[in-house]
Amino acid sequence: MSEIKVTVSRANFATWFKDTSIMENNDGVVTISVPNGFAKEWLENKYHKFILKSVRGFSPEVRSIQYIIRAPIPQRPATTATKQATVLLTSLPAKNIIQTTQLGFKEFEVDPLTNLNPKYTFNTFIVGSFNDLAHAAALAVLSDLGKVYNPLFIYGGVGLGKTHLLQAIGNSVLKQDKTKKVRYITSERFSNELVNSLQQNTISTFKEKYRDCNLLIIDDVQFFSGKAKTQEEFFYTFNTLYEAGNQIVFSSDRPPKSIHDIEERLRSRLEAGIIIDISEPEYESRLAILQSKVKEKNIDLSQDSLEVIASLVQTNIRELEGALNMIHMQSQCLNKTLSVEEIKVILSKNIRPRTSITQNQIIKLVAEYYDIPDRSIFDRTRKTEIVLPRQVAMYLIREDLQGSFPTIGEKFGGRDHTTAMHAYEKIKNEVKKNSKLEEDVRIIRQRYQNK
Ligand code: ADP
Ligand code: MG
Repeated sequence: MSEIKVTVSRANFATWFKDTSIMENNDGVVTISVPNGFAKEWLENKYHKFILKSVRGFSPEVRSIQYIIRAPIPQRPATTATKQATVLLTSLPAKNIIQTTQLGFKEFEVDPLTNLNPKYTFNTFIVGSFNDLAHAAALAVLSDLGKVYNPLFIYGGVGLGKTHLLQAIGNSVLKQDKTKKVRYITSERFSNELVNSLQQNTISTFKEKYRDCNLLIIDDVQFFSGKAKTQEEFFYTFNTLYEAGNQIVFSSDRPPKSIHDIEERLRSRLEAGIIIDISEPEYESRLAILQSKVKEKNIDLSQDSLEVIASLVQTNIRELEGALNMIHMQSQCLNKTLSVEEIKVILSKNIRPRTSITQNQIIKLVAEYYDIPDRSIFDRTRKTEIVLPRQVAMYLIREDLQGSFPTIGEKFGGRDHTTAMHAYEKIKNEVKKNSKLEEDVRIIRQRYQNK
């Protein structure tokens, strides 16, 4: 559980440091201003140790940290669509101020009608070899809505830009023609709204809302898994939209064939158009993304520094942003530009090496992926739904952690080393022939980074 918390904290780093600034360092007591009580609670309860550690990494004399709420001061009057809540804390008490500028985040308002956040645009979406196909498909969809690829299905690991791309499509459609009806929704929210509308007898309103769109965007569709009622309703929504020539766009963390507990008829709908994956950005793309983010957020960092960050943070774009913010925060805290060496120190303390996965974590990930309880992987059973995950876990432990066959056998319920060897060989051969299994293994490996 604590591992998950740590993971989530890092992934959400950028979110929680939005509109946050270090106001002063008064005899070792650092004051951080936060935009609201909610953020204060989160930082105090979940990130306090992490913040203290980061700050102390560079200012060892810091004894404690306190958080105060300061409403963000809009730079210019809020407009209906975009409220810029960039805070510029320029008139702060003079004594011992270590930094007074805000971390450089802009907050935009989500439009309640479409659920779109105007900050996600194609202008800020960097294209590299890791996402160029997905980007091209998105543009093709825009060129003739409902006619080119319908549905468009984008999948990939966490923090790789799925939501950004999907929302950019929505925003772009509305920019071209604001009379178009566009809706963005996560599969989980769709499901919750459906449940609510059933309870409140408003199902017809619900139906109309989602069946009357020119573009319906469903984010993280893998969460339809196991929700029979939602799947049924969505199946009809899909058909209505599709038959009327309206566009549907999906994202998921895996391809349709790997989504469990989903009705075949719905799976076939998900597969009916084009399926494209976004992979992890390679070095050049990571550097390009960093260059664009420093410009966007007005952060002053040298090319050398950006190169170091791009080479050390290899996982995903959300983590790249998190690392950038962390470095920016520390440089504000010290009121100086950090050297490349200093940046290396910060990153080495805060980023997870890609190889830090443990055997138990692999087992957990595999069980999670195949949607079986962790412990059942050790069961002495020949049921396929358990045998396959067990063999995959053995294979990954051997392949990625160089576990010995006897220890693997022992770990999986005191089995003989030949059992482990057999499992390893079997999966090794199978992944070469079976594209679904290959995909499963690839997705599980991608998730190592989030443990
Ligand atoms: P996902 O939905 O795949 O988990 P997000 O779309 O939420 O990922 O992206 C995570 C963060 O990275 C967001 O802040 C997003 O704006 C940023 N991001 C993702 N892809 C790109 C890109 N290609 N160029 C610039 N920023 C990106
Ligand atoms: Mg997303």
